[in-house]
Amino acid sequence: MTSQSVAGWKGSDDPRALVLEAKGELSLRNCPVDETLGPNDVRIANHTVGICGSDVHYYTHGAIGQFVVNEPMILGHEASGVVVECGKDVRNLAVGDRVCMEPGIPNAASKAAQLGLYNLDREVRFWATPPVHGVLKSHVVHPAAYTFKLPDQVSFAAGAMVEPLAVGVHAVAKARAIAGNVAVVLGAGPIGMVTILAAKAAGCSKIYVTDIDDSKLDVAAQLGPVEPINILNDSLKNAVMQGTEGWGADVVYECSGVASAAAGAIDVLRPGGTIVFVGIPLEPIPYDISKAQIKEARVEHVFRYAHIFPNCVNMLASGAIDVSPLITKTFSFKQSVEAFELASNAPTGQIKMQISFEAT
Ligand code: ZN
Repeated sequence: MTSQSVAGWKGSDDPRALVLEAKGELSLRNCPVDETLGPNDVRIANHTVGICGSDVHYYTHGAIGQFVVNEPMILGHEASGVVVECGKDVRNLAVGDRVCMEPGIPNAASKAAQLGLYNLDREVRFWATPPVHGVLKSHVVHPAAYTFKLPDQVSFAAGAMVEPLAVGVHAVAKARAIAGNVAVVLGAGPIGMVTILAAKAAGCSKIYVTDIDDSKLDVAAQLGPVEPINILNDSLKNAVMQGTEGWGADVVYECSGVASAAAGAIDVLRPGGTIVFVGIPLEPIPYDISKAQIKEARVEHVFRYAHIFPNCVNMLASGAIDVSPLITKTFSFKQSVEAFELASNAPTGQIKMQISFEAT
């Protein structure tokens, strides 16, 4: 082997993986995957992997839209770890580096990638999106170009939050938010939470956040200049209009994916404001064009992210963003099945649950 390697890489002696065998059926087992190290790849010993709503949905439903789990698939796409081996042409990383990984690998020759829109490449291979295996396994081989070094002050747990955080930072970039903006974030799930953090980092003066779960709103309220609103008891529109002298919010981030919440987005937007659709609805949702026209609303849509991971790592390193309030529970790899059972019951008070290969 001409590539650089260390004794820590145990090869196929350490084949642990969390495999979604079929809808509702998970197992921990050896799952051989072709992991040939190419010249521009690194091999990574995984440390922490976050559980995403999409992983849980594949577990409970066996599919998301057109993506159907037809054969066993390893879950997980929010990961951090340590480089244990470098391909011979890798220059940006070295063995021993702590890293996080961007889970979508586009075809660099695709038109989308060449336009800089690599997240929109139809051939992108994204972890834990059938038929592509995820990263809830002891080791993974990944292109060095999509692997990012973590500074010492960024923990593995925070590193595994870069993936969801990137969605929020991308949403704020799409909004072209400016300092002093008033924002609304609809939905205080993990993506709503990272959007709050990103909006705050971009200088929002106030962020109205809605949900129906007080425990999530309590967490959101700690994140910055947030006014939490439980829409079961209070009116978002009243709060925003009172707080903005009847003008409305500059930006509304729809992070719930729920039709009724999305329908209200335009009602709290100021004339000439921006709506960013971030949450992915499972069904088509109605959209009132004439209401949006009267306000000349600018409407943006977000699909994952592109060119954002380094910004996220830098903000975690500088302290501009602190994701630690969002990490509410950590399981050992051995407890992975239990972790998914809990996650599938939408437990109150949990925002982001993670699985650690180091925890016992
Ligand atoms: Zn995710």
